[in-house]
Parts: sequence; C-alpha cells; structure tokens
Amino acid sequence: LLQEIEQNQALNAFVDINKELTLAQALLADKQLTVGADSANRVLLGTPLAHKDIFVTEGWRTTAGSKMLRDYLSPFNATVIDALNAAGTVSLGKVSCDEFAMGSGNEHAAIGPVLNPWDHEVVPGGSSGGSAAAVAAGLVLGATGTDTGGSVRQPAALCGICGIKPTYGVASRFGMIAYASSLDQAGVMANNADDLALLLDAISGFDPRDATSIETCHGTANAPGRILADYNKCLQSYVGDKPLKGIRIGVPKEYFGQGLNNDVATAVQAAIAELEALGASRVDISLPNTAYAIPAYYVIAPAEASSNLARYDAVRYGHRTSEYSDLEDMTARSRTEGFGAEVRKRIMIGTYVLSHGYYDAYYLQAQRVRRLIAEGFQTAFANQCDVILGPVNPTVAPAIGSVAQDATAEWLGDIYTLSVNLAGLPGMSIPCGFAPGHRGQPLPVGLQLIGNYFDEGRMLAIAHTYQ
Ligand code: GLN
Repeated sequence: LLQEIEQNQALNAFVDINKELTLAQALLADKQLTVGADSANRVLLGTPLAHKDIFVTEGWRTTAGSKMLRDYLSPFNATVIDALNAAGTVSLGKVSCDEFAMGSGNEHAAIGPVLNPWDHEVVPGGSSGGSAAAVAAGLVLGATGTDTGGSVRQPAALCGICGIKPTYGVASRFGMIAYASSLDQAGVMANNADDLALLLDAISGFDPRDATSIETCHGTANAPGRILADYNKCLQSYVGDKPLKGIRIGVPKEYFGQGLNNDVATAVQAAIAELEALGASRVDISLPNTAYAIPAYYVIAPAEASSNLARYDAVRYGHRTSEYSDLEDMTARSRTEGFGAEVRKRIMIGTYVLSHGYYDAYYLQAQRVRRLIAEGFQTAFANQCDVILGPVNPTVAPAIGSVAQDATAEWLGDIYTLSVNLAGLPGMSIPCGFAPGHRGQPLPVGLQLIGNYFDEGRMLAIAHTYQ
C-alpha cells in the first residue's frame, strides 16, 4: 500500500507518510493476530487507515491543511487516533483537507487541491477530501474525517464511498483541531456500511477530556438511545422478505427543490424507491427552515472559528514571520502570512458578528434559527418518520477551479448537510448510483440518511440492507 500511495502521488491525497511507524504498527498487528487477542478485539487488527490532517498525531505532522502549522508535530494523539491504534489498525499516514476544515472541495488546502480518483479533473469534495480520495482509490480500507457542516458526508458522496458522522458527543473531539466546536464531530469513511460500523464502534465512547462527550452512547437498531450495544451487531437487524417493513422514511420536500441537479435527484429518488421495495414506507415531510441553515451556519461557524483560531498568535506555536517591529505587528503579519484567504475571510466574518452592536442582530439570531431547525427535525421524528432521506450534495463533483472562486456557490452547496450539524444529529452518506459530470462522464451520487439522536445503529442497518 505504501508503494501504491507513492504511485498515486498525483492525487495529492497524502500530506505525511512515516514508513517506519506504519511498518511498526503493521508488525504489532501481525503479532497480535498470531497470539491471544479474542475475536471481538481482533476484528480491526491490521486494517490500513488514513487520518485526516485535523487529528493530532504522534509521529506524523499535523498541519490542518494550513501554512500556519506547516511543520507542527503534536506531542500526543487525538483520542480517536488512540482508539483506532488500540484496535490494532495501521496508519498509512495523514491525508489532506481544506485549511482548518473550511471548505467543500479540498481546494483550500495549503498544498493544493486533491484530485478525485474517479476523474482527475474534478474535486473529491471537502473538507475531508484526502480521506475520501484515499479510500476511493483503494489506498486504504477506511479513513477518519471530521464533519462540521458536511465534511464527512459530502466528500464520501462525491467519491462514491460511505461516510458517517455520529450524533454530536458520540466521538471525542479531544485532539481534533477546532474549527467550530459546537458543530465539529469526528466521523469515519469506508467502502460500505459494515466497515463503517466496525470503525464507529472503535471511535465512539466517553472521553473525560472532551467536555461535550456523552457517557454512554450506543443504541441498537430498534432501540435508539443510550444503551450500550455494538453497531456491528445492529447491521443484521432487518431480515426476511421485506426486511425494512415498518421503517418510515421521511422525504423532505425542501431537499428536492430549486438548485438540485435533475440527474442527482433521479438517482436519489431511485434509491428511495429501492428502499420502499425492501418494505420501507415513504412519508413526504417538510423541514421548513432548511433554507435558513446556510445563513445560520455561516454566522455560527465563523464566530466559533474566529475564537478558536485566536490561539495561532505566533508566540506559542505556528508560523512566525521573519521581520516585525513589535509584538502586535508580529502576530498580525504571522497570521496574514500563515492563514489562507478563506480562513482569513471567516475570521473577519466571525469577529464582526460577535462584535458589540452586531452580536444580537447576527449571532443571537443565528442561534435562534439553529433552535428552530433542531425542533423541525424533532417534530418530524416524533410524528412522521424514523429516518430522513435525501441528497448529500446538489450536484456531482464539480471541476477543479470551478467553485472555490465563488464563495456563494461553494457555501450554497452545503444546503443539505448543514442542518444536521446545527441540530447535532447523526448523518450518513452511501453511494446510490451515478450522474453525468461536467463533461458528461459518470460520477458518483450520494444518498443521505439522517437519523434521530443516537440512532446510528438503525441508520447503519438500513444502509447494510440497501447495500
Ligand atoms: N463546507 C462547510 C464549511 O466550509 C463544512 C465544512 C466541514 O464540515 N468541516 O464550513
């Protein structure tokens, strides 16, 4: 695999490789395979993974896709990385992402864009674009990602793989470089729902080092909630002739409105029809506040980012400019040089909406909208449906260079993913066919599953049944 990664350098997916460490992990896994380890603990032994360059890692650099952290080496591992190491997985290295996870195409990475393995002219999606590309290219069996507003689900969709972002608080944020802390959540990406279940089993669980971590979090397919179970067991929940009989699928009309590409809509509708053929019933629902997710998110996320990124002051760590007149000048110059354009823009927006006089008009208002969006989902889950289905992204992967110049276009593309983070719900993306790309070439389409809190087991079981 290390050789294949080298042969696939053109993809620009990997940002740091450490052959010695990878081989050491592989040898360790090999040894454990031959000795004791009981079967429950050996299921992931030796599984080759790649980690998003947002998780801090001992032995591999952590740059967060930024010049600011170009040479940063963490003295400790993120909890998610420790958990996967403990399960015996083997890290093939760190993979690229948009700078500080801000973006939807992996075009805002300091080292340049990642190419989509399906077609080198299109983006892999973002911000976990390197993770998705590495899995889709077969360089690893799974990858970690983070999802603040769609960054696990959207690149998974655009690269034709699976991705899940669990309920906020299910996986630890300790050691995940912070973008917008009330929205950030770790997730996993892989080829199918079964692999996701195993990886999610490994990364979920209480972590006292993360104040928003939830104490017991696993549910079962039929009993969502804080019950300890395992996701892998949930997979086999639906059997028989009409395995999905009794499952009510909510299809929000707002997810099929203006802006959605026709061919993407057709692929998603066909997948919903297939689930109906498996016994599920379809319920047309409405999530009336969907359109407000974009303005609310692009106030709240930059607000939190402006605060989180204040730590890069060129004193404690990060890029430091070579010439400066005084302390303030040093920080200002270093931040201007170290952060890319998208990050600087968001810091400015965030600072603005939090400033005295604008706080009530923008930030507080956005928080009210956030509450309404969360309540909209709760009404649907309480009265109408068990799971919500729709597209992940309005289009297939766009050509490199076609979206990132236009901030509005890039931000509008997040319409179907942002609400999930604003509400803290679990969201998942699975491949559901193809639609024509910018040259008419077939590119993958993703189907999004949105579940109620702690309903990951059921979502994975539905995906397993569909696949
Ligand atoms: N595209 C969104 C943004 O740029 C979401 C990114 C993410 O989930 N990290 O903020």
